Formats: sequence, C-alpha cells, structure tokens
Amino acid sequence: MSSSEDMKRAIQRAREAFQCGTTLSIDFRKRQLKALKRMYEENEAAFCSALAQDLKKPKQEAILLELNLLKDDITYILSRMDDWIKPEKIAPTIMTMFDQPLVYHDPYGVVLVLGAWNYPVQLALLPVSGAIAAGNCVIIKPSEVSPATAETIAKLLPKYLDKECYHVICGGIPETTELLKERFDYIFYTGSTAVGKIVRDAANKNLTPVTLELGGKSPVYIDDSVDMEVAVRRILWGKCINLGQTCIAPDYILCSKQLQDKFVEVARRVLEEWYGTNPKASPDLCRVINEKHVDRLSEYLKEGTVAVGGEVDREQLYIAPTILTDVSPKSKVMTDEIFGPILPIISVESAYEAISFINAREKPLVLYIFSALENIQKLLLSHTSSGGSCVNDTMIHLSGRGAQLPVPGGMNVWGLCGLSCLCVCLLVM
Ligand code: NAD
Repeated sequence: MSSSEDMKRAIQRAREAFQCGTTLSIDFRKRQLKALKRMYEENEAAFCSALAQDLKKPKQEAILLELNLLKDDITYILSRMDDWIKPEKIAPTIMTMFDQPLVYHDPYGVVLVLGAWNYPVQLALLPVSGAIAAGNCVIIKPSEVSPATAETIAKLLPKYLDKECYHVICGGIPETTELLKERFDYIFYTGSTAVGKIVRDAANKNLTPVTLELGGKSPVYIDDSVDMEVAVRRILWGKCINLGQTCIAPDYILCSKQLQDKFVEVARRVLEEWYGTNPKASPDLCRVINEKHVDRLSEYLKEGTVAVGGEVDREQLYIAPTILTDVSPKSKVMTDEIFGPILPIISVESAYEAISFINAREKPLVLYIFSALENIQKLLLSHTSSGGSCVNDTMIHLSGRGAQLPVPGGMNVWGLCGLSCLCVCLLVM
C-alpha cells in the first residue's frame, strides 16, 4: 500500500521531471520504451507466476494475451513514433497560403493510468507505452483485485524505467480516491462503468481529459448458413479465455431455436475435447477472480436452464463453462455484463429480429456476426452500432493493428478495445 505522502511525493517528482523537460528528448523516450520491453522479456516467469496466483492464468494465455501483446505494441510504437511525433504539415487555406502551418504533438504532462484486474499486466501497462512515447510522465495504479500482479509491477518497473518520471502506486479504493483528488493532465481508466463515472466526475473538477475503457455486452448472432463446428469453436474460444473475464468476450447468443439445439450439442462435445470430462481439473482454464464474483455469477445460473456445465466450487473459485437456455431478456444475466464463463442463448427467428433486440439495448462493446451470407453480414453491420465488430470469429479483431485509440499526448496506439475503437474484422467461413 502506498501512503498519502508517498502518492503526493510521487506526483510531485513526476511533475518536476516533466517540467525539467526530461521527457522531451525522443532518445530518452525510446530508451524508456526499450527498457520496458526488456522488463517483459527478462521477467516472463515472474509475470506468469503472478498471473497464475491471481487468476490461475495458464502460461500460454499469459504470454499470448498479456506479455506478447505488450512487447508487440512497443515494437510497433518504436517503428512509428518518429513519424507520429514530427510536426504535421497541414494544407494551407486562402488565409495561410504564403505560410507554413504546422501541428505540433505536445505531451500532456503527468498522466494517471488506472488498470483493471482481468488482464492485470496488459491493462495497467499498455497505456503506459503510448504515454511514454508521447513524452508524458506517468503514475500507474494497478488493480488491487489482482494483488500478486500489482506487486510484481511495483517491484519490477522501477528497476527498468526512470525513477523520477514513472511511478507505481499500490492500493485499493481509498488510495484511488485519494489519487483522484490530485490534479493530473490526463487520466486513462480501464474498468467498470460505475467507477468510470467516479473517475469522470473527479476529472471534471480540473477539466482533465480522460479515456474511459469500460465494459458492456457483446452479442453473437448466428444463422443457419454457418459451419456450426467452426462457429462453436471460435465462439467458445473467445468465451473460455480468461474464463470469460474479458471485456470483449461473447456475452450472449442470438439464434433460432433449431440452431440453439445444434449449438448446444456441438458445444458439449467441443468443451469435453478441450477440457476433459472434469474441466475443473484442466490446466487450461482460469479461475474466477474472487468469491464475490463467484457469488454474482452463481446467481445468473438460476435464471435459465443449464444446458451444459453449471458446476460451481466457491472455495476453488471455479465455475464451469456453462450454456444457459430459456432465459428471459429481462433477467439480470441479460441486463448485466456477464464477465464470466456463462453463455445464455436467446431465440430470434431472423436477422431483423436480432437487430431489433440489439438496438433496444445499450450499444454493444462488440457485435459478433456468424453468417456465410454477405448480405446478412452487411445488414447487421449497417443497422447496428457497436464499439467494434467481428464477422465469423471472436476477439481477433483486437489482435490486428486496427483498433485505434487516442493516447495521452495526441498520438495513437493500437491494440486496445472499447467503445472508442471502430474496427471491423471480416472472416470467410
Ligand atoms: P477493478 O475492480 O480492478 O477496478 C478498476 C480500477 O478502478 C482499479 O484500479 C480500482 O482501484 C479502481 N476503483 C475501483 N473501485 C473504485 C472506486 N469506488 N473509486 C475509485 N476507484 C475505484 O476492475 P473492474 O471495475 O471490476 O473491471 C471490470 C470491468 O472493466 C468490466 O466491466 C470490463 O468489461 C471492463 N474492462 C474494459 C476493458 C476495455 O478495454 N474496454 C478492458 C478490461 C476490462
């Protein structure tokens, strides 16, 4: 835990370092980014072990979806940052036709990054590379809900990055509340909508710009033109990674009653193939982050018929990958973001009915469309609005360098998700 004095001192040191102009040097920023990359490379085992303690995250998930993503992001930033940073020539108007108008990309100053627990390395540190590249100083507050990872970040980061410009603050709600009373030049928050509102309110007091990476529901539409075997595998892959605790995990399915039966039949077989007859013993499944979330998710199981899965072990923080049928659209599992391994199916008889269902609710974080028919894909894409869309696969739209987000300093970084990303991925089935 960081004390109030520690926090104030860290912010003060970062502010002084920024005012000294330390981060204005492009070479300095590049050195910091290379050092950050080295931190991931040299401490793979430490990060994997922390992620295993917090979420029982399998090594392949830790490497693929946390460490590799972070390293690739830095490689990409390093390959592009000279171009991003240089002053941008803008087309003259009649008023400036004899001038040389330029746009300069200045850093904001001291940036606060608040991370979430579900991808605790990636979500705390991905915004940091963008902020460093843009020339900001950074205060990083990893999520207290994944304490082993927060501790690892706090221990390792100062060994690699400049100790005046970059600081890690550990703690929970009291520490975050305290931090939010301070004036920052930019706040980058990832987490729930409820806390997002608290962060926005605190930022408003100083008119501080914010990026809020929030949650939401991500529906999956399936029609009968798909190869069900392929569709089930791709949907379950997205749902089972991190045991469904992924902001862009498929949240619920919209399909006809007939397809529902087929989906359930194939899903039962695929889950057994992947995780065996006792998925709890599988080394490839994460755990729910804590008992509070096990209790929340267990309540959802009462809101429909358990067609596959359904096992809960509170002590082991385990809930089996579960498919629910006969679910009311008004039930909590259909109004809350699920954020766990439960996949309800809602019957719709056409793409038009699916569109009405989706549009009657908050905008999806992602819309997943499974159809081999181009006209159906286009119909859903053009008649709905969501943070991102992916056709005939799940989650992979995030793996490309296609999801563009603003980062502190007026530059762009690729690879985060959220309602501000407009990325559509089309795959042929
Ligand atoms: P969390 O509990 O780790 O909270 C996130 C941050 O907010 C933490 O740093 C925490 O200290 C701080 N915080 C929590 N309560 C607070 C309070 N009352 N006042 C001030 N600060 C507080 O994570 P969470 O909120 O459970 O995160 C899960 C949510 O995040 C889900 O809705 C998920 O969809 C969303 N998410 C979004 C993205 C994205 O990129 N869009 C990525 C991952 C997670």
